This record gives sequence, C-alpha cells and structure tokens, in this order.
Amino acid sequence: MATTKKVTKVSGGGTSSQKAKFVPTAEAKAEACKFRKYGILLWVLAVVAEIIAMVILFKKNPEIDLSTGARIALIAILLVDLILLIVGSMFWKKANRFDPASKENALKFFFQNQMGVVVAVIAFLPVVILAFIKKEYLVGAIAALFMVGGGLASADWSPPSQEEYAAQSTFVQELMGADHVYGTKSGSKYHLYDDCQYLKSDRTAEIFEGTVADLYANNSKIKPEMSSLCSACEKRAAKEKGWTEEQLQQAKEKAQSLVLPQGEEDTETDE
Ligand SMILES: [Zn+2]
Repeated sequence: MATTKKVTKVSGGGTSSQKAKFVPTAEAKAEACKFRKYGILLWVLAVVAEIIAMVILFKKNPEIDLSTGARIALIAILLVDLILLIVGSMFWKKANRFDPASKENALKFFFQNQMGVVVAVIAFLPVVILAFIKKEYLVGAIAALFMVGGGLASADWSPPSQEEYAAQSTFVQELMGADHVYGTKSGSKYHLYDDCQYLKSDRTAEIFEGTVADLYANNSKIKPEMSSLCSACEKRAAKEKGWTEEQLQQAKEKAQSLVLPQGEEDTETDE
C-alpha cells in the first residue's frame, strides 16, 4: 500500500531557509582518500630526497668547495625533490576537488587547500639553510628558487569549498530541477544543456555529465565558483523558466547566500 501522507517535492522549490550543505558521495570520499595517500607518499619521498641532499652537505667542509660532480648530483637530487613535491601537490589538490573543505573553519580550510605550500617549505627550507651554512651558495640559491617555485605550483589558486559546491548545486537545481550538468575534459565551464552551442563547438568529442561536484572533481580547469556556469546555458534556462534578468540574479544571490556564513561577505573577488 502506498503512503497516504502528502508527498511534497522539495528539489527545485527553493523555499527552504535551511543552509544547503555539500556532502561528498562515498565514491568521491574514496577517490579523495586514494589521491591524498598518493600525495602524502610523494611528499614523504620529496623529504627523503631533501635528507639525502642534506647528508651530502652536512659532510662537507665549509672551507673546501664541492667538486663539480658532487654539485651536479646535489642539484639533481633537489630537482627530484621539486618534482616529487609538485606531483604530490597535484594529487593533493585533486583530492580536495572530490572532498572539499568547509569554509566554516577558516584555519582548516586554509591548511587543507594550501598544504602543498607548507610541504614546499618543509622540503626545501632546511636544505637552503644548511647550504648557506656550508658556504655552498649556488646550491643554496637553487634550493631557495625551487622552494618558491614549488610553493607557487603547490598552492591552490582557486580552492574548492563545500559552500561553493552547495551554492552551485542549489542554483542548478533551481534552474533545472536537478543537479545534472555537462562538461568536456578540458573546458573551463559547465553546461545545463548537452546541446549547448559551446559544447558543440568544443574540439573535444566527448561530453561528461554528472553533478556539479562530479564535474569539479574530474576537470581541474573548472574553477569552483559561480562564473563557471556557462552564461548561454544560464540565459536559456532563465528564458525557459520565464525569468527576467533580475529574477535570475536574485536566484543566484539566494543560492550564494544559503552557503555563506551569516554576515560574511564573499571575499573571493580577487582574480
Ligand atoms: Zn552552455
């Protein structure tokens, strides 16, 4: 016997005053866990490379120059250190795309997204200091350069957040009734319609579909922010709903406000 209770469909209603919350699926959690393990493993290996470089430097007499061969070997080890750091950070950032941090805890949010920068300092600063103590200035300068370059490459310049994921999922549901979007392997936008003109003109033949979170997880070129929704699709959806430009903006602002902590302004205006 079917339920006699009144069933009200809530998705797309947009009348809920509760905070929208993004919760990753079990699969996304598992993927994130896998990529975090890869990232941590590579970071550990980067520190091992650093320790090897430090052992060589530690044995050196500050008053006697290293041989050219030893110097080249040192620089090669530091290069390995750099590559391990950057690839480790790539895995780490990918993991965060599957399982983003919440902005509610600003400190945790910062460290989870920028952990690669912290590791860059750990993986290079000690060797920089030791190289200068041992008067191996060229090696020290190169290590310092690698630390800065590795740190910049390891930083997440558009860090994903649970709040942004939830905002966009809410907005897409508001427009389409379901969180189902389309994208390509390397395109920087996601789309509401699979026959969007921009999807057609894309050089890639393959189209991916899924939730907004799925697309973020599988394409790092899509920035986790409202502007990543294709504007042509957005206009088309608004038109189909009979919305004015103003109503569209209101729906967008409402979706954003659902997920921002009370009284906090969106600070991500720097591009
Ligand atoms: Zn589109």
